[in-house]
Amino acid sequence: MSKRVFSGARPTGRQHLGNYLGAIKNYVALQTEYQCIYSIVDYHALTTLRDTSELRHNTYEMVLDWLAAGIDPKGTIVYVQSHVPQVTELHLLLSMVTPLGKLTRLPTFKEKIQQQPDNVNYGLVGYPVLMAADITLYKADLIPVGADQLPHLEFTREIVRTFNHHFGDVLVEPQARLTEIPRVMGLDGVNKMSKSLNNHIELAAPPDAIRKQVMSMVTDPARKYRRDPGHPEVCNVFAMHKIYSPDDVERIEGECRNAGIGCVQCKQLYAEHLVAALAPFQERRAAWAKEPDAVWDVLADGARRATEIAAQTIAEVREAVQLP
Ligand code: SF4
Repeated sequence: MSKRVFSGARPTGRQHLGNYLGAIKNYVALQTEYQCIYSIVDYHALTTLRDTSELRHNTYEMVLDWLAAGIDPKGTIVYVQSHVPQVTELHLLLSMVTPLGKLTRLPTFKEKIQQQPDNVNYGLVGYPVLMAADITLYKADLIPVGADQLPHLEFTREIVRTFNHHFGDVLVEPQARLTEIPRVMGLDGVNKMSKSLNNHIELAAPPDAIRKQVMSMVTDPARKYRRDPGHPEVCNVFAMHKIYSPDDVERIEGECRNAGIGCVQCKQLYAEHLVAALAPFQERRAAWAKEPDAVWDVLADGARRATEIAAQTIAEVREAVQLP
């Protein structure tokens, strides 16, 4: 049987180019080699969300994007974290072997305290334990991560080792499936593409909106006039050309350096290539969007299949812990 891959993402609604290039594209590719389980981690979202009115809508929109991008629900399990309640039990049991001091010393926890000093909730402290429960509930072998996420995975591995040391070899220690995750910059060219900074391009945005957004992209700041030679290595538009204009990239690089091409023309070209690349995605999305019930059915089926695995793991865990 092929190895099992697990990954979770918060329900953030419509996905943007950064989400696609940084995660979804890889999710799709992994399906050919592995049994994949992709979770929409709504419990995790609650650690930072006070207003939950958009949670369902955001979940739906995100799944639409995943499906349109090529995640195949026939083979891959796509489900919502809270639809498989066994994760809360495993979270509780794993929390019993996790030292509190370790959790409160984690840099991610300290960052969160700074970001939301008026909402340092209990869930925030236990976040990494819930993450460990997500992964171990499905006995995942591989977790797709970038190098910067390795410490998070190591934390899960430590919890697994501690648990297994106390109760026997029940949980699987996951390995990293290292992935080179491109850092997709926002339209401002300075910050990572993100919804909260409103510097993003939605995958589902209408072509004209995409063109307009691309034309607003910040380019090489040293290139004030059309006649100024450019530095493609510092330009975000050029970084995108490398992905979406493979046949033109060499020419653009040369013409940018000798001021043979202007930034307006360069961005127009990128916009057309991006619109064309997203067209099949947008067609599939529109088809799924015509049948919202089918999208929810995908999640219901995913939860059913995920629960089968989760129930088995929890039974083994309860047995190992010798719960009466
Ligand atoms: Fe960037 Fe293109 Fe302008 Fe060069 S010509 S600075 S690559 S937008």
